[in-house]
Amino acid sequence: MSLITKTSAWAEEEHRMFADAVGRFYDAELVPNMDRWVDQGMVDRDFWTRAGEAGIMSGAISEDFGGAGGGIGFDAITVYEQGARGDCGWGFSIQSIVMHYLVAFATEEQKQRWLPKLVTGEMVGAIAMTEPGTGSDLQAVRTTAEKDGNSYRLNGSKTFITNGHTADLIIVVAKTDKTAGAKGVSLIALETEGAEGFRRGRNLKKLGMKANDTAELFFEDVKVPMTNLLGGEEGQGFYQLMRQLPWERLLIALTALGTIDFAIAETVKYVQERKAFGSRVMDFQNTRFKLAEAKTKAELLRSFVNDCITRLEAGELDAATASMAKYWGSQTQNEVVHECLQLFGGYGFMMEYPIARLYGDSRVQMIYGGTNEIMKELIARSLDI
Ligand SMILES: Cc1cc2nc3c(=O)[nH]c(=O)nc-3n(C[C@H](O)[C@H](O)[C@H](O)COP(=O)(O)OP(=O)(O)OC[C@H]3O[C@@H](n4cnc5c(N)ncnc54)[C@H](O)[C@@H]3O)c2cc1C
Repeated sequence: MSLITKTSAWAEEEHRMFADAVGRFYDAELVPNMDRWVDQGMVDRDFWTRAGEAGIMSGAISEDFGGAGGGIGFDAITVYEQGARGDCGWGFSIQSIVMHYLVAFATEEQKQRWLPKLVTGEMVGAIAMTEPGTGSDLQAVRTTAEKDGNSYRLNGSKTFITNGHTADLIIVVAKTDKTAGAKGVSLIALETEGAEGFRRGRNLKKLGMKANDTAELFFEDVKVPMTNLLGGEEGQGFYQLMRQLPWERLLIALTALGTIDFAIAETVKYVQERKAFGSRVMDFQNTRFKLAEAKTKAELLRSFVNDCITRLEAGELDAATASMAKYWGSQTQNEVVHECLQLFGGYGFMMEYPIARLYGDSRVQMIYGGTNEIMKELIARSLDI
């Protein structure tokens, strides 16, 4: 299966070639390591640099910063192909989010400093919004960045941060003005190497996505140069976060589509071989109908996601439409994986079959990147004008 169809308006021949190359790289370098990474709770650090060498992370970044100079469709392929191999351990989605924050808002000097290292995997990125006391309500963050000479002093804590244990560059959502509500929020890029007062907590134990490191982060008077304020202007953080949400939400829908394609393929293989009452499980009408429903949902999602990529490349993907893709994609992923697992019978509950892992991995897609309830709220707001 493929993200790209004959009618994908955004896709050119070079996208198809890129998809083949990404697939080959994953088959050789990612798939054989997935189980080991699940056991160790994170992806090997040198996988990032191998992905960088293979050009997997650079497709959508300008040549001025070490990229290949293509559009967002290249990152969409990287994410889809990962899902289509049943993996969500490698945190490339977050790397892509960080890179596109820099592309959209960083000063020229900041872009030169960080983007070339992110495309090669020399640096791993993370984005730290969520705190122990607040997730959905981002305006309520309590982490502060107070001016101190030519620096900020970061104080506070974050939790559930993807790539948090591996990251060298963390975009921290902090208040530069505690009295100004949303207008007091800024994004501060913390380079973790040698950062005194910065501490990583536990690698959190999770229901799924076990190969993805998810961290608590603590900041105690961490000195960050003022030149690390993203975009160089205070109080822009909330606006910057909102502007990048369409891509963050579409990424989740792309993972959903890849995972659905993988789940269906694995299930078809299984039910064609498994016998019950003298016939293949594939031959029962219930099995055929369940798989037909799943396949129909996959094709609906594929069309929608392709349309969203076209809109995003044209600068026309609005927040409500991206929220629909995130909400519907992640819900559909959970429905499909649930039905597919059932068709495996007891083996679906055993970790030796990837469908069991996908069941755990899929659940969080309805939670992170803004919960599906928040997505519905945003969609409803677009109606109530
Ligand atoms: C595996 C994982 C990885 C993550 N990675 C990152 C990361 O890299 N960076 C990062 O910053 N965060 C990350 N998160 C955090 C994630 O984005 C938050 O968990 C999520 O936004 C929800 O916030 P919360 O957990 O505080 O839930 P809460 O905001 O406390 O929500 C609890 C419940 O209340 C509902 N609710 C809240 N407000 C409303 C409302 N207005 N209307 C209706 N219902 C509402 C929610 O939908 C939810 O059901 C990650 C989380 C997980 C689990």
